[in-house]
Order: sequence, then C-alpha cells, then structure tokens
Amino acid sequence: MKVAIVGGGVVGLTTALQLQQELHNAEITVFASDFDRTVSHVAAGIFRISSSYSGPTENITKEWIRDSYEYYDDIRKTREASLAGVTSISGYIFANSSVETVKSYWLEDLVPVYRRATDEEFRLVEGNWKYGSFLTTLLTDCKLYLPWARRKLQEGGTKLTIRKLNSLAELATDWDLIMNCTGFGARTLCNDRCLVSLRGQVIKVHAPWIKTFFYGELNTYIIPRFNGVVTLGGTRSFDCDNISLCRHESTAIRERCDYLVPSLKKATVLQEEVGLRPHRENNVRVEAERITNGHSKAILVHNYGHGGYGVCTAPGTAKYAVQLAKEMHRSSVAKL
Ligand SMILES: Cc1cc2nc3c(=O)[nH]c(=O)nc-3n(C[C@H](O)[C@H](O)[C@H](O)COP(=O)(O)OP(=O)(O)OC[C@H]3O[C@@H](n4cnc5c(N)ncnc54)[C@H](O)[C@@H]3O)c2cc1C
Repeated sequence: MKVAIVGGGVVGLTTALQLQQELHNAEITVFASDFDRTVSHVAAGIFRISSSYSGPTENITKEWIRDSYEYYDDIRKTREASLAGVTSISGYIFANSSVETVKSYWLEDLVPVYRRATDEEFRLVEGNWKYGSFLTTLLTDCKLYLPWARRKLQEGGTKLTIRKLNSLAELATDWDLIMNCTGFGARTLCNDRCLVSLRGQVIKVHAPWIKTFFYGELNTYIIPRFNGVVTLGGTRSFDCDNISLCRHESTAIRERCDYLVPSLKKATVLQEEVGLRPHRENNVRVEAERITNGHSKAILVHNYGHGGYGVCTAPGTAKYAVQLAKEMHRSSVAKL
C-alpha cells in the first residue's frame, strides 16, 4: 500500500507516526510545503482544552482527548521524554468574570490534579482574582517534538518530501491512501468555508525561574517550556489572516503578563511569533471519502481544523483517522 500524508505540522507527523506503527508493509511519504515554519511551531503546547472543542459526537471527542493524553503521557514516562519535548506541568488559572473560566469540562476527570486554588495561591500573582484553579497537566514543546517525530519517521523508512499541492487529487494517480493534515491549508485545498483563521501572537522570553504556568483573563497566559523559554500570550483574532507582527499587541501582551507575574519584567525577549490557528466552525474534520483522478481511485481521510487545540488533540484524531482509513480499505476489499 502506498500512503501519502499531506502536512508536516503536529497533526501530519503524529498521523504519520501512527500509520508507520500500524502498516508494516506500507510505503509512506509525508508531503509538506514547509516542515520548519508551521503553526505548530508557534503553539505554547499546553494540554488544556476549551469546553467548546468538538469532534463529531460527545463520545468521540472524549475518546480523542483521552487517547491524546495517554499518548503524550506514555512518551513522558520514557527516557525520550525530554528529546520529544513532553513533560508534566502544573499551574494556575485565574478569573474574575465567571467561575466557568477556571473549570474544564474535558480535563477535570482526566488529569491527575484539578482543584480550587487556595487563598495563599491567589497571592502568588498580582490582581484581585475571584476564582482560581490549580491543575497538573502535560506540555508538548513542538520545537522539540516535531524534529523528534521526523527523526522517528525517517528511521522507520518514511520519506519526508517538500512539495506544495494545488489539489489533493494530484496524488490519487500514485497513492492508495491520502491523509489530509494541512491545517489552515485545507481552506484552499478543500474549499472549506467552515475553516477560519484564529490569529494568535506570542512572545517567547528567557525566564528560567518560571516553573509553573499562569492564566489570567483576556487571553493572558505565561507558559514555561523547555530550556528556560517561556511563552507569553496572547491574542485570538477571529477571521484575521494577517501574519505580520503587531507591535501594539506585543506591548499589550507584555504589559498584561508583567502585571500578572512582575518578575517577568526582567525576562529578555527571544522571539515574537504569529500563527493562524485552523479553527473549524462546528467541529474538527476527521472524515473519509473516495477521491478519483481519471481512472485512478484513492482513499482520502481528512484530519484538520483543530483550532487552538491541535497540539494536545493530534494523537487522538490521528488514531481515529487511521481507523477510518482501515475501515474504508476493508470495505473496498470486500466489494472486489
Ligand atoms: C499562538 C498560538 C498558541 C497555541 N497554543 C496551543 C496550545 O497551547 N495547545 C494546543 O494544543 N494548540 C495550540 N495552538 C494551536 C496549534 O498550534 C494548532 O492547532 C496546530 O498547530 C495545528 O496543527 P496542524 O498540523 O493541523 O497545522 P500546521 O502546524 O499549520 O501544519 C500544516 C502543514 O500542512 C502543510 N500544508 C498546508 N497546505 C499545504 C499544501 N497545499 N501542500 C502541501 N502542504 C501543505 C504546511 O506546510 C504544514 O506543514 C496554538 C496556536 C497558536 C497560533
């Protein structure tokens, strides 16, 4: 079987790893217009999922999230954890306007610790916060995870090829199975009007003394990652495709984060980045169909539209996408 995965971000590479593990005799190639500058590289990478995150049904969404958590937690327990950029992390969510902001519909029964912040913990940060939670979860630093995944793929015989596709049908002549993991690129490739950009801007600073994460309101977050780097965020601009840095947003991010945790004032800026989260109205698209090009036919499985939660939920949707591919392959074979 010849398998093409389109997309070199966290969704594409995680899907490729699962396929490599399951299909021993397949010839697998990952195509991407870019492997080094993806939205996945910009992500803070924390396993925190909004209640609005949705797959096709409640049960499937729950399964994706549980499978994803287990996937990263299994890596965390291995010797490769720091090479793969996966670690356990604890921190706080503070809010004033609503208690719902500090709750998590998907995580409260999944992560090892999720509880109210104590009075003493409220005093760890500036601001007169009304509600607060403390939780322990996972973090995946894509600047480490993506190169690690690429190495594993290459060691397993998967080819990585830089190629920009104008249409997925281009691959149907040579490939039996195509996995579409193109993130925001799917808006053009699939003419998907439900896919909307959710622009985000962040600042990466060097602040090795910050060991816990902090969320405040208005998209304020401080999330430590590997090597003393801390992500300061952020913004969420709906339907905004502008990928230039906005200096007004940089100033606002810095002011909000420095106010919440004053020791950050002495942190030096390493990098400022912008990414377009592939937000899909209604739900993330993981669906299978058949695609033709002349007389050639292939199975096409879509796996895109993860919005602000692609790092944390990529393993679960990848597993589901591989299942869909296998079911469709079995039904094709049965018809012959
Ligand atoms: C500021 C910010 C913070 C974030 N924080 C978090 C977080 O803490 N936790 C979390 O889970 N998520 C977070 N996210 C969201 C996360 O980054 C995305 O959900 C995730 O990266 C999407 O991954 P992807 O692989 O679908 O897309 P991408 O990473 O964009 O990868 C898409 C791939 O497809 C390729 N491609 C596209 N079109 C074509 C084409 N026509 N031909 C060939 N190749 C193509 C691209 O080159 C690329 O390799 C954040 C995002 C931003 C912007």
